[in-house]
Amino acid sequence: MSQKSEKLIDKKGLRLDGRKPDQLRPIKIEVAILANADGSAYIQQGKNKILAAVYGPKEAHPKHLSLPDRTRLRCRYHMAPFSVQERKSPAPSRRERELSKVIRESLEPSIFLEYYPRTSIDIFIEVLQADGGTRCASITAASLALADAGIPMRDLVAACAAGKIDDTIVLDLMDTEDKKGGADVPVALMSNLNAITLLQMDGTLSLKEFEKAVNLALKGCMKIYALQKEALKAKYMNVKEAAKE
Ligand code: UDP
Repeated sequence: MSQKSEKLIDKKGLRLDGRKPDQLRPIKIEVAILANADGSAYIQQGKNKILAAVYGPKEAHPKHLSLPDRTRLRCRYHMAPFSVQERKSPAPSRRERELSKVIRESLEPSIFLEYYPRTSIDIFIEVLQADGGTRCASITAASLALADAGIPMRDLVAACAAGKIDDTIVLDLMDTEDKKGGADVPVALMSNLNAITLLQMDGTLSLKEFEKAVNLALKGCMKIYALQKEALKAKYMNVKEAAKE
């Protein structure tokens, strides 16, 4: 909640890390970085460092969990004990269970689940370092890991949050802004289909502020989508170069 004593935006309108309100943190994305997963991706978004790995589609195990008409998508979001300032217990927390569920639900509409009945696709997300907005960065990386695994998809899913700090709507909140700010609105988008697959809100916003935050988050998603495509292309350029050698 808002702590009026500490300003999160200075007189020049810049944030604690020097960003303008509508600016994303620096983002670096790499695809196909793990040799033993079917698909993988790594994202750095500001101080966030997150790995996503995909296995499948493969025969569902245990069998009674399989679905007769589609694949079962499973997702585990996990924070490493060293990923946050105060050591996190490696055991799954309530928050990690919730995030695993919302990340899975944000990715499901992008996959042709019906192509692989009685199978499962597993997504493993390891947060190595966290600094706010990890659910969104995880969605961005996991969607690329699915594409890298060759799973037929309608679109990539890119995610980004917007929120309110010091009465200003800002893009891509880092941890301090998330904790000390007034609200946080994570959004996931399939850009080509113009379809939102995740919309959450933590905190309080007026209707006008909410609309502004969602629109800003959508702009962030579109910028991240462009970076996702670049990262996928880079993977295939590497394959091409390797084939020449
Ligand atoms: N966090 C933490 N310890 C925890 C869980 C979270 O320090 O056990 C921090 C971490 O930096 C995370 C931030 O709190 O990114 C915000 O967490 P939230 O639940 O809002 O999810 P996120 O913004 O990461 O999607």
